[in-house]
Amino acid sequence: MSPQDRLGRPLRDLRISVTDRCNFRCVYCMPKEVFGKDFQFLDRKALLSFEEIERVARIFHRLGIEKVRLTGGEPLVRRNLELLIEKLAPIDGLDLTLTTNGALLAAKAKRLREAGLRRITVSLDSLDDAVFRAMNDVDFPVRRVVEGIDAAAAAGLAPIKVNMVVKRGLNEHSIVPMARFFRDRGHILRFIEYMDVGHSNGWRMDDVVSATEVVERIDRELPLEPVDPNYPGEVAKRWRYRDGSGEIGVIASVTQAFCRTCTRARLSAEGQLYTCLFASSGHDLRAPVRSGASDNDIAAFIERVWRGRSDRYSEIRSEHTQSRGKIEMSYIGG
Ligand code: SAM
Ligand code: SF4
Ligand code: SF4
Repeated sequence: MSPQDRLGRPLRDLRISVTDRCNFRCVYCMPKEVFGKDFQFLDRKALLSFEEIERVARIFHRLGIEKVRLTGGEPLVRRNLELLIEKLAPIDGLDLTLTTNGALLAAKAKRLREAGLRRITVSLDSLDDAVFRAMNDVDFPVRRVVEGIDAAAAAGLAPIKVNMVVKRGLNEHSIVPMARFFRDRGHILRFIEYMDVGHSNGWRMDDVVSATEVVERIDRELPLEPVDPNYPGEVAKRWRYRDGSGEIGVIASVTQAFCRTCTRARLSAEGQLYTCLFASSGHDLRAPVRSGASDNDIAAFIERVWRGRSDRYSEIRSEHTQSRGKIEMSYIGG
């Protein structure tokens, strides 16, 4: 039975960060001024091993988790990630997926598929090479991410979703070209409002391009109509092209908060459990895992944490909440 939190929300999804490291320095996530050469990433020994992650995932599954998303940092920089996929993919009825920046995908897509991964999400913010290089801030060419997406499709990963964060003044001109490109390739593009995660990205409300504006911009050139959600509480609002050529999603985390239906827990790479993307502290799950606690003890710990949860940051976002200490997205996992 899935535990319910203080607002009656069940525990349904788990995002597992497998590393806090990344080969990109996206300006809205890991700005170089903060994540520079001297930044202290987690020590390897601090990371949960694949065996520990599998054990924890199975306990969460017993508690009602239906979906696990591997994330980071950049999950594909964690060595031999396919060995973790091999452990998680056979869990009965579990929907397993992974979010990646795509930089290493062309080389790894086939192995991930063979290990049992079925679908994938790739983040890409622009098809304009200069804009993309400036946004990832490590001069990474867009062509190689597109090659990664094509390799994922060729390997049979489906559906492929593409996530685009829109930040005012940086890439709103890429909205329509991205929509056209991925419609023609048959992948679902999802637009994400720029969020005030962590405390290092210098977020301002003025920089947010609302989901409504994104839909209006596309609708002017490629007419859209709304589609019912796939299931209650789906995070992305769906729209389809009126000519039947595909669909897009918009994730309005800032302008239309969806805390009321938020069923997600997050596990950091070192085994801290968070009940909200904007949490200021976590609950140490690694300690019981490494000190001989039984599966039942760990399940009881998770249940206790979840039952005590009352987070709804996006619904109560204000200047006051923005300035409180929050965990970085690259640590907690997007
Ligand atoms: N490195 C992988 C990637 O980029 O796909 C996985 C981790 S990343 C933190 C997960 C997602 O969070 C990405 O789609 C990224 O674009 C998004 N993200 C990061 N910072 C964000 C922000 N400030 N606002 C909205 N989305 C953000
Ligand atoms: Fe890395 Fe993903 Fe954050 Fe970009 S969004 S810096 S790729 S973790
Ligand atoms: Fe869930 Fe927290 Fe985001 Fe609200 S702000 S949707 S509770 S993660």
